[in-house]
This record gives sequence, C-alpha cells and structure tokens, in this order.
Amino acid sequence: MSAPPKPKRCPHCGKPADALFRPFCSKHCKDFDLGRWLNEDYKVPVVEEDKGDDEDDGRE
Ligand SMILES: [Zn+2]
Repeated sequence: MSAPPKPKRCPHCGKPADALFRPFCSKHCKDFDLGRWLNEDYKVPVVEEDKGDDEDDGRE
C-alpha cells in the first residue's frame, strides 16, 4: 500500500471534504449543490437571430 489518497476538496467552497458529505465538506454544501441540480436553474438565453432573410427591398 502506498500513501493514502489525498482528501478531496469541496467543489462548492474548496474546503477539505468530509467523509460524511463527500465530495463536499458539509451538509450545507451538499444540499446547496443538490438543490442547484434539482432546481435546474440554468436559464439559457435563447438567441434568435432576427436577420430578416427575406430580401424584401421593394425594388421597382
Ligand atoms: Zn464546502
């Protein structure tokens, strides 16, 4: 056996992870991350390019 694995860090706040809440450091961070996923609060802006492809010059 070699050296024990390094303790991972909480992806939320960067503190060393706790075995109980890994990969997070605390229940707070775990719940926070979980809630973020459950809420799916990712609001992706819909970019609609309105270029007006109709070349309606009205040439005469
Ligand atoms: Zn944390």
